[in-house]
Amino acid sequence: MKYEVVIGLEIHAELSTESKVFCGCATTFGAEPNTNVCPVCLGMPGALPVLNKKAVEYIVRAGLALNCEIANYSKMDRKNYFYPDLPKAYQISQFDLPFCKAGYLDIEVDGLMRRIGITRIHLEEDAGKLVHTPGGTLVDYNRSSMPLIEIVSEPDMRSAKEAVEYAKAIRNILLYAKVSNCKMQEGVLRFDANVSVRPKGSQTYGTRTEIKNLSSFKMLQKAIDYEYQRQVSMVEKGEEIHQQTLRWNETGNCIIALRSKEDAHDYRYFPDPDLLPVILSDEFIEDVKHKMPQMPDEKKKMYIEEFQLSEYDAQVLTANSELCAFYEEILQDYDEPKTAANWVNVELMALLNQNDMLVEELAFSAGNMAQLLKNIQSGKISGKMGKGVLSEMFETGKSPEEIISAKGLSQISDTAELEKIIDKVLAENPASVADYQAGKEKAIGFLVGQVMKATKGAANPQSVNEILREKLKK
Ligand SMILES: [Zn+2]
Repeated sequence: MKYEVVIGLEIHAELSTESKVFCGCATTFGAEPNTNVCPVCLGMPGALPVLNKKAVEYIVRAGLALNCEIANYSKMDRKNYFYPDLPKAYQISQFDLPFCKAGYLDIEVDGLMRRIGITRIHLEEDAGKLVHTPGGTLVDYNRSSMPLIEIVSEPDMRSAKEAVEYAKAIRNILLYAKVSNCKMQEGVLRFDANVSVRPKGSQTYGTRTEIKNLSSFKMLQKAIDYEYQRQVSMVEKGEEIHQQTLRWNETGNCIIALRSKEDAHDYRYFPDPDLLPVILSDEFIEDVKHKMPQMPDEKKKMYIEEFQLSEYDAQVLTANSELCAFYEEILQDYDEPKTAANWVNVELMALLNQNDMLVEELAFSAGNMAQLLKNIQSGKISGKMGKGVLSEMFETGKSPEEIISAKGLSQISDTAELEKIIDKVLAENPASVADYQAGKEKAIGFLVGQVMKATKGAANPQSVNEILREKLKK
């Protein structure tokens, strides 16, 4: 029998507010353990939480970016459980009245558009962090009460690849909306995957398991693939799948059962009596909408209409917010958007892909890239030389000026010098000259090539072309 995997994702993203969600403590990453703390986020008796307005603005922005309905009336609830990283023994979260619901995100997978439903987005506080050492387990409360949003999808994904594409697209949207820095290596973005299997064509869902706390796209992919195989082999053996919470073990490449899955009622949710319900006026929501940063679809449209980029180039650039930001920074110093897009999408992308690197890891700035393109634009160096300079910039982080002067690169634009070389090439290739003069337009390409060869690529091809045509008229 053929099986199909059904996946829903819960994505946790830390918001990039300056202070925590219910107190004034700083949210800076990497501070000395237990220094960004106060009685509120340490859960001291009698300390009272105050909701961070910026966090509300950010979750509304995320909701609007993900096509959600924004609630005018919302409230905070207590989710009760005990764990050493949770000093109050409850987490402030949202139960039945989240800020955002009923949204969606369109993604493209293997050339097909897929719409993934977003059930809800709610606001909650993060827990502290346990640090396991040989001497025992330590706890750092710096992360306690950091603002988190949880984006819950519908079970709309049908492959691990689709889940990864969706997670990447969510990350991209959050970056464009400027509500989270989404740094995976700092745990700012984390995924829980709900996975079940069913016979292909079936309309009912199988029993699902939940794999907690996946912190990279690779882990997400591997964990889902593994869980799918595990469930299929259980079903085939006639075994029953239990609703369970699982953990992906990265070193062992396997899944470990944590506990049997709890239901919402196990947490005894109730409205937090220390926090008032949140009433958002239509004016507030409109205002957030009005101040929204430009989202990828808008940018794409602008690139096509104003910059005359191809649909493909616009798509590649906007599908990655860091790449897009880099591209726009180049344009601050360089005024040919089409040429810049070409260099970013072709030359720069090739270097990044070959080295398995991200644009934010580049050793040189967008300003350097603009400088390089200006050198080509002015004819100081040829495009071909530019490619060499770019790969050296990539390796060393040096500025294009440094590389060009150290290597003594410069294009021969000096007409007198070029004419000498061209005369020689014409004298050596009488057959091509005759062909061209007999109307074979193509022959000029060969002659240009010969001149470029003779100058080791240092001639300006446009000048060569012009001088050749002039000389061949005679
Ligand atoms: Zn605090």
